[in-house]
Amino acid sequence: MNGLMMSYPLALAQILDHAYRIHGDKRVQTVLPNGKMHGYTYAALYERVKRLANAITKLGIQRGDRVATYAANTYQHLELYYAIPCIGAVLHPLNVRLSAAQLAQIVHEAEDKLIFVDGVFAEQFEEFRNEVGCKRIVGFNLMPTDTDASYEQLLREVEPTYTWNIQDENWAMGLCYTSGTQGEPRGVLYTHRSMFLHTLAVNQADVFGLTEADVVLPLVPMFHAMAWGLPYAAMFAGADMVLPGSKPTCLTNLIAENGITVAAGVPTVWAKVYPELWKRRRDISSLRRLIVGGEAMSPTLIEAYEKDLGVEVCHAWGMTEMSPTGTFSKLRRAHQNLSDAKKWRIKAKQGRPVPGVELRLTTETSTAFTELPWDGETIGEVQVRSPWTASRYYKSESTTEQFTTDGWLRTGDLATIDAEGYMQIVDRAKALIRSGGESISSIALETALLKHPQVLEVAVVGVPDEKWGERPFAVVVLAEQAHKNISDALKQQLAAEFPKFWIPDQFVFVDEIPKTSVGKSDKRSLLAQLVSQNLLG
Ligand code: AMP
Repeated sequence: MNGLMMSYPLALAQILDHAYRIHGDKRVQTVLPNGKMHGYTYAALYERVKRLANAITKLGIQRGDRVATYAANTYQHLELYYAIPCIGAVLHPLNVRLSAAQLAQIVHEAEDKLIFVDGVFAEQFEEFRNEVGCKRIVGFNLMPTDTDASYEQLLREVEPTYTWNIQDENWAMGLCYTSGTQGEPRGVLYTHRSMFLHTLAVNQADVFGLTEADVVLPLVPMFHAMAWGLPYAAMFAGADMVLPGSKPTCLTNLIAENGITVAAGVPTVWAKVYPELWKRRRDISSLRRLIVGGEAMSPTLIEAYEKDLGVEVCHAWGMTEMSPTGTFSKLRRAHQNLSDAKKWRIKAKQGRPVPGVELRLTTETSTAFTELPWDGETIGEVQVRSPWTASRYYKSESTTEQFTTDGWLRTGDLATIDAEGYMQIVDRAKALIRSGGESISSIALETALLKHPQVLEVAVVGVPDEKWGERPFAVVVLAEQAHKNISDALKQQLAAEFPKFWIPDQFVFVDEIPKTSVGKSDKRSLLAQLVSQNLLG
């Protein structure tokens, strides 16, 4: 027997309408290319989104067409985040840090009909413009004149009224490509329904927990996995938003001057900004929470933020394929009386599944996957299913390497899960170092090395070894005032925690560790660099 409730499509237009009707006075602030701030209300944004919807329609975009953006975190990009899906087209944010050749291939596969380009990236955009063929281009923010149209002009020429008509919640709303660290970038095609449910899920109190009283700073780029869903979550909650634009800016000032309460970004950003936040001693007491993900954050850094700056750090784990949020790490009531050291250890785990997400820990036998126990020790591959997880990739045959035959996404992440449901990533399956037939976790070694006060950044990679197959090799960035050779001290520190064969034979000290297009340590480039500089061996 079917129930008798309304059939009501879960569509992003409802998020926008709600934000306008209920929170029309809330503000979006953007750092402009000249460093000044642009600010307006949700009500003003709403009118511009409706104009933009008319403008995009006038340019010939129809339901299902892909429309790309090549832009920083700005109010125009936010307008596009709503206008494109709300007319039934598909928002495709391009990663501005990819090479011209990679981008051309992605745009070709996506068959983007129109590209919105942020003028601050005009020069680099030119590099791949010729390769992508005769796409129509609309520019904003100081875009040179050789575009098909200017954004502001388009908005002026059309009416501020538009009736949304998303008939089916399963229409595609967005297309994001994976960052390609593990191979070729692959397209993930989100639906209105999946993004709507992801928005509700992350806004739960024990997840991002955004409220009307928050001022949210998404430092995660809007091309990285839909900015972790924040543009939708913040507006549905009625929170103010501060968008950092494209230029590195003084984060301490941005936080202090705008009363930021929640900020989100990868650990590298927080490692870099910590000394600045600590030294400048501006009033950052508004900042109640950091949402950190994309890579593991070290317990030492979590402790530094919580103890020295009084900011709660919440570790999140996910993937582009998961819209992207899968787990979130907050302490339970039962943890309140634990020692600080135990608390940081729990917080450094990647967290418990967001309600709505199912995890399983598996090992592969010749015929099937066997589920492993959640005992905090057994390591297995994490598999996921949820209403906001991809069921296959865009324009690509699904393989059993990616999706299981019984409907789970194979994340390729190796982890333990404890009895309370806290997952801890041990490594990417492909990054686990195999030495003499035994496994060594690069993440565990990195986390331990980051506890040394003179270590700023570290990447441990597996390098080929004739005798053992592979050996761990540590590449370290030291704090400015550190002694240059502290290899022995680091080895000693690791010896207290790990078996002898885990200790890297070699440490190399460098000024910088290369980063991927989304700001994570780029171990593939790092290995190539080590080889080209003859540093291995
Ligand atoms: P992406 O789709 O580019 O966001 O990459 C997803 C991958 O990033 C995951 O499969 C993990 O390997 C890694 N990742 C994401 N969040 C975390 C985290 N909090 N800790 C460790 N690894 C993470």
